[in-house]
Amino acid sequence: MPVVENFWNKVDKGTGCWLWTGTCPKPGYGVLMTGPRAQRIKHFAHRYSWELHFGPIPEGMYICHHCDNRRCVRPSHLFLGTPRDNVRDAMDKGRFRSPPKPPSGGWAVSAVARARQTAEASTRYRLVTPSGEIVSGTNLREFCRQNGISHHGAMYQVRSGKRRSHRGYKLAQ
Ligand SMILES: [Zn+2]
Repeated sequence: MPVVENFWNKVDKGTGCWLWTGTCPKPGYGVLMTGPRAQRIKHFAHRYSWELHFGPIPEGMYICHHCDNRRCVRPSHLFLGTPRDNVRDAMDKGRFRSPPKPPSGGWAVSAVARARQTAEASTRYRLVTPSGEIVSGTNLREFCRQNGISHHGAMYQVRSGKRRSHRGYKLAQ
């Protein structure tokens, strides 16, 4: 049976959505298999339909649903979107899922980035100088050195709120 005919045989053309009646594995999009058994090619039914009507999908582009029905293959319900559109569209329709959780070992790069953020947050200071200026940064020790403050410990206490002030420096709110 020609592929196109095989495709339409699995479509239930209703007055609204045209539903794919073939397999719809997770995440719920219809799937069409073509090619000989040894070289099966898997197509998403909605993408296949779009290509059938409008031509090849540009690389990296998504086919989104106006009707938010993943099984629907009706060309007028489909639109070409960028990956960003696809996410925005999903958000608009309230089915956006946050990115997957990292594996138990964590993702090397993001773990490093997170550690750096945590370290920065823990060393970040935001102070009011005796002249009322607000200063902030990530290296309080260096700040003390530049401003001739020898009692670092007192400044760390100011930063953490344990001490009201030291040499006129206060915690900025
Ligand atoms: Zn539809």
